[in-house]
Amino acid sequence: MLNAGSSTLKYRLVPGDGGIVEGGVVEGIPHGAAVEQLLARLPGKETGKEIGAEIGAVGHRVVHGGTRFQAPVLVDDAVLKAIRDLSPLAPLHNPAGVAGIEAARRALPGVPQVAVFDTAFHATLPPAAATYALDRATSQRYGIRRYGFHGISVRWVSAGAARLLGRPLADLNLIVLHLGNGASATAVAGGRSVETSMGLTPLEGLVMGTRTGDLDPAVAFHLARAGVDPADIEDLYQHRAGLFGLCGDSDMRAIQQRTDPDARLALDVYCHRIRKYVGAYHAVLGRLDAIVFTAGIGEHSPVVRARSLAGLDPHGIAVDPARNASADPAGNTARLVSPHGARVAVCVVPTDEERAIAQETADLLELS
Ligand code: ADP
Repeated sequence: MLNAGSSTLKYRLVPGDGGIVEGGVVEGIPHGAAVEQLLARLPGKETGKEIGAEIGAVGHRVVHGGTRFQAPVLVDDAVLKAIRDLSPLAPLHNPAGVAGIEAARRALPGVPQVAVFDTAFHATLPPAAATYALDRATSQRYGIRRYGFHGISVRWVSAGAARLLGRPLADLNLIVLHLGNGASATAVAGGRSVETSMGLTPLEGLVMGTRTGDLDPAVAFHLARAGVDPADIEDLYQHRAGLFGLCGDSDMRAIQQRTDPDARLALDVYCHRIRKYVGAYHAVLGRLDAIVFTAGIGEHSPVVRARSLAGLDPHGIAVDPARNASADPAGNTARLVSPHGARVAVCVVPTDEERAIAQETADLLELS
């Protein structure tokens, strides 16, 4: 599977028997060359077989599927064109995805290429959640609505949470908090996304490493009237805001070690925003069965988990200090961090977007 980001290409070779997996990251070179470089690393090369003889399919992460792609799809010329045409909605990411697919098609002719979309899981958002209160004609003309992202991860960890809780996903109402460099909250009812914090683009919602998250839309007009160039405003929102904007560090590990007022405020703003979304999504779902933390910060920061959910005891939400503080004993497994018998389970479920993409690819092709 290939995950072509704006500056890196992650890859993973997943055997059909679910055995040993190999993978890595190629950085700093164009995606076409990166795909060729990684194919040269694959085991098939050494055994002298034709490259790709042992590759059954390639799954590609594509960030934006618009309203057209609501599930993984086998790539042909028309699909590739449609993904390219969606680039205005994801100018940093979709072109990278297209480059990855083109390179893999060239290098592995005849091998099925599958596109797996980060937006697809949120295709079930009800209109009340997906619609911005803009005039209808403008929204329709420019494709403005809430699409949502991190769907590959949210789908994967929702299934993991159901396994951990020993209950069918169809019976569960979850809030999934994906807290990595990008961060999002999603309300999942019976395995379907019903509300999510990222919108037209991955800029909206929670505080992120360098992105603003929610902001009064008028901040942009205010800055523009003061003479700041629109491109600078976008750069400010995307790359110089969030945790980085607040304290100069985007890395949560570094922030947690600092004791100065800027770092403390950054952590406060970060956790307050999460708590606000948890309350809102609890209201959206009505009954809440579990809160699921995932990705770098969600999986590894007991401080963020505890601070974000502090004071929610009246809602049946609490974190057990000992369970929360103890590192995962088994290495990388899902676990509960709420007190025994709590009304709302709080769990940590590691995400694995690369394996999820491989799984969705195999499911589409009925390989497994
Ligand atoms: P990406 O969105 O790029 O995949 P990750 O999911 O790897 O990012 O998350 C990166 C974030 O996780 C960084 O802010 C990093 O500081 C944080 N993180 C990783 N390990 C820890 C840890 N042990 N404690 C706190 N934060 C951590």
